[in-house]
Amino acid sequence: MSKSLQAIRGMNDILPEQTPLWRYFEGTVARLLDNYGYRQIRMPIVEFTELFKRSIGEVTDIVEKEMYTFDDRNGDSLTLRPEGTAACVRAVLEHGITGGGQVQKLWYVGPMFRHERPQKGRYRQFHQIGLEVFNLEGPDIDAELIVMTWRLWGELGLRDAVKLELNSLGTSESRGRYREALVEFLSAHLDKLDEDSQRRLKTNPLRVLDTKNAETQAVLVDAPKMADYLDDESRAHFEGLKARLDAVGIPYVINPKLVRGLDYYSKTVFEWVTDKLGAQGTVCAGGRYDGLVEQMGGKPTPGVGFAMGIERLVLMLEALDKVPEELARQVDVYLCAFGEAAELAALSLSERIRDQLPNLRLQINAGAGSFKSQFKKADKSGALYALILGDDELAQQVVGFKPLRGQGEQQSIAWDALAAHLATCVVQG
Ligand code: ATP
Ligand code: MG
Repeated sequence: MSKSLQAIRGMNDILPEQTPLWRYFEGTVARLLDNYGYRQIRMPIVEFTELFKRSIGEVTDIVEKEMYTFDDRNGDSLTLRPEGTAACVRAVLEHGITGGGQVQKLWYVGPMFRHERPQKGRYRQFHQIGLEVFNLEGPDIDAELIVMTWRLWGELGLRDAVKLELNSLGTSESRGRYREALVEFLSAHLDKLDEDSQRRLKTNPLRVLDTKNAETQAVLVDAPKMADYLDDESRAHFEGLKARLDAVGIPYVINPKLVRGLDYYSKTVFEWVTDKLGAQGTVCAGGRYDGLVEQMGGKPTPGVGFAMGIERLVLMLEALDKVPEELARQVDVYLCAFGEAAELAALSLSERIRDQLPNLRLQINAGAGSFKSQFKKADKSGALYALILGDDELAQQVVGFKPLRGQGEQQSIAWDALAAHLATCVVQG
């Protein structure tokens, strides 16, 4: 195929074989979020470039090298959103829905775009489900976010495969003091730092903690510890969070090097990580960003949120064999009809059945065909039962009801009794 007719590298089609699992995952999360009192918000996919520069920070990987940025026809610089928090904050400010301390518990789902090197679990168009909470400043809400994800892992059968890492970044003041101490320490070891870290030392020194370079990691062993610089308030907040996780029995490890890639975090940061996906191990990440709203021109407004990567979680469900069996079957009943009169009757019968059983997955044969070919299609559809309507059945106002998966003999059922009969033999979602 010519190159122009292929999808862009790192941007994938999600094929019909894959969408049931995506919908199961998204549906499970959406139901959970509903139950905990979160409401969905939908933001545009494209925003002014300035929004991301202001919120994410100029010297982050995302803004420096990962954004899809282009000029609109009228010369405005626009960017495909690399993440959801910036647009969500923009939206709540624009609509004034966090004013006067109004609490908002919001969630969103959709594609994000980052120009990274595509590999398993890392794409250029990927999908997140994220949530943001505004105007709640205590550790109770941080805990709720984590407890909710813990429940999600439970429902999905993933609890044994994920680990919670926690850290506190303190307030911007305490972080500032720590940053100074870190810069002073690292500057004294400059020659032992890898090139990236040397650059980060000038632009975003906390990110040096994040390095994968072994030599730099060795230097960091003796570096000042963030925990020693925490202010009392952040310390109490962190203790409050840990007490709540302990109360629910959620295991965690404190990772003092967890800093997160974005500039805007403060106090709590956390990641759910797995060793089941190779290098792309973080499936859900988030934290508190009490300074962000103000930084974006609003009144001081505490905020906390997280985002999870749908591709990575779907990969995990597959890798760990946690795909529910019932997803494999998309059709309950397949209706075969032979001859034009039977086709007409089949159509009106199927609509009556749908009225009575709105959740029944009933596929009606299209394109006519012989007995043999319609049966083949019925079988291939995965349906549990075939319904058969030919001239004889039409004359008697019955259908042939044939189990396709070896549960008993074919029988004849009157049209009027069909819905009731189907209700007893098909479990409806
Ligand atoms: P990573 O360290 O893996 O690059 P990140 O810190 O850049 O992740 P966030 O911005 O916190 O990621 O996004 C939250 C989640 O979104 C990640 O934990 C991950 O599950 C998912 N994610 C981020 N970037 C990608 C990507 N390029 N492809 C697929 N999923 C991604
Ligand atoms: Mg990244």
